[in-house]
Amino acid sequence: MVNPGYSIQQIAAILGLQNIPDVNKGFVNTLLTDSRKLTSPSTSLFFALQGPQRNGHVFVPELYKKGVRFFVISRDIDETLYPGSVFFKVADPLQSLQKIAAAHRHRFAVDVIGITGSNGKTVVKEWLYQLLQPYKNIVRSPKSYNSQLGVPLSIWQMSPENDLAVFEAGISKPGEMEQLQEIIDPTIGVLTNIGLAHSEGFVNDAQKLSEKLQLFKTAKVVIANGDSELITWGARQLNRPLFSWGKAAHNNVQVLAVHTTGAYAVIRLKEKEGSDFNIEIPFSDNASVENAIICATVLLYLKFAPSVIASGMKALQPVNMRMEFKQGINNCVIINDSYSADLTSLEVALQFLQQQSKGKKKTVILSDFFENDANDRQLYQSIYQLLKRYDINRLIGIGEKMQLLFPLLLTEEETMEASFFLSTKKYLQQYHSTQYRDEYILVKGARRFGFERIVTLLEQKVHETVLEINLDAVAHNLKAFQQLLKPGVKLMAMVKAFAYGSGAAEIASVVQFHKADYLGVAYADEGVELRKAGITIPIMVLNVEESAFDAITDYNLEPDIFSFELLNAFEQHIKSAGLKNYPVHIEVETGMNRSGFAVADISVLADRLTGNEFIKVQSCFSHLAASEDKVEDAFTLHQFELLKKATDILEAGLSYTFIRHIANTSAIMRFPELQLDMVRLGIGLYGIAGNDKIPLQTVATLKTTISQIKRIRNGETVSYNRRGIAKEDSVIATIRIGYADGYSRRLGNGVGKVWVNGQLAPVIGTVCMDMTMIDITHIPEVKEGDDVIVFGEAVPVQQLAEWIGTIPYEIMTGISQRVKRVYYGEG
Ligand SMILES: *Cc1c(COP(=O)(O)O)cnc(C)c1O
Repeated sequence: MVNPGYSIQQIAAILGLQNIPDVNKGFVNTLLTDSRKLTSPSTSLFFALQGPQRNGHVFVPELYKKGVRFFVISRDIDETLYPGSVFFKVADPLQSLQKIAAAHRHRFAVDVIGITGSNGKTVVKEWLYQLLQPYKNIVRSPKSYNSQLGVPLSIWQMSPENDLAVFEAGISKPGEMEQLQEIIDPTIGVLTNIGLAHSEGFVNDAQKLSEKLQLFKTAKVVIANGDSELITWGARQLNRPLFSWGKAAHNNVQVLAVHTTGAYAVIRLKEKEGSDFNIEIPFSDNASVENAIICATVLLYLKFAPSVIASGMKALQPVNMRMEFKQGINNCVIINDSYSADLTSLEVALQFLQQQSKGKKKTVILSDFFENDANDRQLYQSIYQLLKRYDINRLIGIGEKMQLLFPLLLTEEETMEASFFLSTKKYLQQYHSTQYRDEYILVKGARRFGFERIVTLLEQKVHETVLEINLDAVAHNLKAFQQLLKPGVKLMAMVKAFAYGSGAAEIASVVQFHKADYLGVAYADEGVELRKAGITIPIMVLNVEESAFDAITDYNLEPDIFSFELLNAFEQHIKSAGLKNYPVHIEVETGMNRSGFAVADISVLADRLTGNEFIKVQSCFSHLAASEDKVEDAFTLHQFELLKKATDILEAGLSYTFIRHIANTSAIMRFPELQLDMVRLGIGLYGIAGNDKIPLQTVATLKTTISQIKRIRNGETVSYNRRGIAKEDSVIATIRIGYADGYSRRLGNGVGKVWVNGQLAPVIGTVCMDMTMIDITHIPEVKEGDDVIVFGEAVPVQQLAEWIGTIPYEIMTGISQRVKRVYYGEG
């Protein structure tokens, strides 16, 4: 399932370009749009995409150095600097990418299912894959790749072995669907829930629908909900046959009844002119029921027998697009993806591993694959190639086929260590914790292999209170702020205090991956930790003392210089270390009265630094005291004016320019004019401080579990000093969190509440060191072992802060280190 590739001449022909130098040997099998995802330089074609936040052309030199020779560009580039390269100059590289994908798509005559709609696209795609994968060799979109960029990259995976393709398409503005139609050109159209917003009225809905239906312009059938007049009208407009589902009798597939019991739903369906039959799915929510009906309709259209559909439906797996990683034994990091095993999801997981591992050793524990591939040997060959492409150091293969076929692929001078086991049981029998140390371990296997048992062994055991960190939310929040910046304005992400409690190295990796310019930490030690974790972007250190100078220069950290004493001492250190032009950041005091040079001292400072060959001013900045407070806006602007005055004096004295910065999160949101050359983003990165205009995603969720449930009588008391008194016969649950975990004692006696089974439960009595009691008298169906959310989406950390009269910063940074951090994201 690897794209067989194209010669340079073929690419030129697709793009309609002549005058391409005669590089006959040129051959492309990877379309590269993100320089960070480079894996096979010599066969990659790089598209220098142009967007508001990025300009792909700036990566050309770096990629050339790494061996890339084929580029699609839209700006002039001095080609003589890159001998042996081919540059395709076009008007719009994204369009060229789409053209190549469209040409690739049309080499294949197989059925292509195109899915669009407002909700459920990814679930329907993944479920169709789960249901059809025993019978077909399927290529599908990775993750939720459904955009103008994601679709061409998905299509590029099509190869001659496939006998079915399933792609999703999503649009963010009018006109985009036409483009996607040309690339996907589905033969079977599937419309999922389109979330018609009745309030907007028919005209808007009709417009929204017609736009989506454009995807099916040339499809031989459209599969959709036939109960909706609007949809049947839309299909008529499009002049395509409809194969519909719905409650009404006129539908091709009629939904007779839906019964839900606990975690299951039974759906009674009837084919037109056929008899009725049941399908049972292991889900009971409305969205899952609807998605299952859509999938059943597709399979019926494809002429699968009801009994086959029913047996597949029973085994549907939840669509888990998120990848979790956890601290493991012996300083390992475990990436748990023990839900699926197929090439598409393997590549997604390997990319995630590459992004996180930052040069550390990489091990993959992998089960047999169950793709419907006539040629097993080729399937395992593709797996092998992927593992090599992502520089995997060690493979542990589990399963009959792994053991039988994989060893044949290893070469004589194989650099990848490999061992094989017949079954998970056999692996577990020989397992020993000393086999793993200081490495990243991806655990990925088909469900039937039960790899969760392996994950349990590899995980570090701690008590069951965890702080879950959503890395996708961090990336989302970062992008939300990047979009507020004027072109060219840099961004420093503040990751001091263990990244506001969220885990410095993990957050810094995401921030570095998404091209922030700088990191800010409080102490040199924090910077050293980041360097040891493989972070390479510049790091500013706010509090520097002489004892940290060696660490600063050894680890290439950049100090905040806030006084003449510090400047003198640091300059002395640089001299004796034999260094020159060491970058430093000058802090100016403008009203916070914390640290910094007085504005009145700046001209003396400028004289002191003019022509200085040891110290180089990298930036000059100040910190705002009340940027979130409307009442203090005049003061904020005054601080800004003072900084500008100081930087003008300094710049006039030095013969070079430097970065100027003052804005923190609230200032970025409230004062675009304060952006200067760089902003310093703190709390906003962690999803706090958002509003309607700048919606942020929750990053951290503090979770614990119930260790015991007790029934007590009216008048009995709970916890130390008998402070909690039951006002009725009550049910009390003890949860595994206390003030030693960072759950403040001030939250005791009803002040704080936690989220249990969809409701808020008040704390009763005093918070203890490691435990807290909550009152669940009026919350039904709570059991021992149940999860409890202390803060997260349901109970925002701002709310907790308000209850005890503090700010979210204090709560976040106060979560103690014994609380395990668990990271997850789509990668
Ligand atoms: C912590 C800090 C920030 C970030 O502030 P937020 O309000 O969290 O955005 C910016 N600059 C300095 C100097 C800081 O200490």
